[in-house]
Amino acid sequence: MIVSAPSCAKCGACATVCPVYRQSGRESHTARGKLHLLDVLGLVRASTDFVDIFSACLLCGACAAICPRFIDIPKEIIRARNSFSSIAGPHAYEKYLTRKLLDHPGSLSGLRVLGKAGERLIGSYLPERSGLRLRLALFQEESICPPVTAGKKNLPAPSARSRQMSWFPGCAARYLFPGSLASCRSLFADRGVDLVFPDSLVCCGLADLTAGDIDGAQKKGRQNIEFLEKTEGSILVSCASCFSQLQKYPMLFAGDSVWQQRAEQIALRLVELTEFLDDVSVTESVAPKRATRKLRIFYHDPCHMRHNKEVRDRSRTLLGKTGGVEILELEDGPRCCGQGGLFHIAHPEISAAIRDQLVEDVSGLQPDVVTSSCSGCLMQWQQGVTAAGSRVQVLHLSQVLELLKTLKN
Ligand code: SF4
Ligand code: SF4
Repeated sequence: MIVSAPSCAKCGACATVCPVYRQSGRESHTARGKLHLLDVLGLVRASTDFVDIFSACLLCGACAAICPRFIDIPKEIIRARNSFSSIAGPHAYEKYLTRKLLDHPGSLSGLRVLGKAGERLIGSYLPERSGLRLRLALFQEESICPPVTAGKKNLPAPSARSRQMSWFPGCAARYLFPGSLASCRSLFADRGVDLVFPDSLVCCGLADLTAGDIDGAQKKGRQNIEFLEKTEGSILVSCASCFSQLQKYPMLFAGDSVWQQRAEQIALRLVELTEFLDDVSVTESVAPKRATRKLRIFYHDPCHMRHNKEVRDRSRTLLGKTGGVEILELEDGPRCCGQGGLFHIAHPEISAAIRDQLVEDVSGLQPDVVTSSCSGCLMQWQQGVTAAGSRVQVLHLSQVLELLKTLKN
């Protein structure tokens, strides 16, 4: 049964910032619209239309950040999605997404534009335990995406450095962007740190959570907690989305004091990439020695981070310290890229429209590089610049810092 929504003032502030509403113009796509539906229809059986409306949310948090009633709208939407499996049959949301994927097989073509990475993903690299499977809605299509065991190729050999640090790179980095793994390793090796990730780590569970599969997210959470408990010290998380999910583990286990306590211990050890790099002044080593043309960089804030000014500023401060970059900003501030985990499967047209508008506006700033620390956003950006025929490079933040190092005179 769907729980009743918190009281909404129907002020409409959420509509002014909702990227989905901006594209579709449908009131039911606003947070206000969804909360109203929960209010008046929350106790009836969910129809396909109902599931469709609740799939039309990026969980970007822009509405929650502006809501005068402080309603945690993404949380309400996840709760609604979670209820679909009980009121509309098992795995209702996954079935819905799979059907949508089959309605829009072009959704997969985006992966192919990723070139070799896409081939690896579709062909042989994606293990069954990876959350990317869920993100791509490849729930039942083993022939497209068979389970595999490989995942270490393209990683540099471990060095003999004395200090080791645990590392949670995230599924997309491990299986789609091995270049970002190598860059992270290299950056940290420069600081005398060997990054090591336990092979047994699984997906952070964000994809399960956003699909409303709270049991699935908890299962992955328990596995990761158990594996990380066998390590010591700080845990570097180099994907912004994974970081936000790992930080939520204590909330995920609300009501289970034993697991909540274990999750809290892990959460205390998490260090986000920009936070660590800033702390160790890694940027000193990448600053060019003499004046050259500065690299024009657009930093894309992942939604999980962009509503926190301190976090938003940190990445810019980090890049600015290199002295080798010019940071470009959109007039109206950071925006969602339209990926939204499962959203781009459920609503490929709206997702592409949000993405393409962003790519067009950012292209007007004439960047050399677009960067972010979220693998999902990087996938969306890569597809966007390819669709636009742009030559702008899309790189993980660690790769930009490596690139600046090579430009050093
Ligand atoms: S901003 Fe908050 S209170 Fe206002 S309409 Fe949206 S959800 Fe309701
Ligand atoms: S979370 Fe984002 S996409 Fe979803 S209703 Fe709020 S503003 Fe719109």
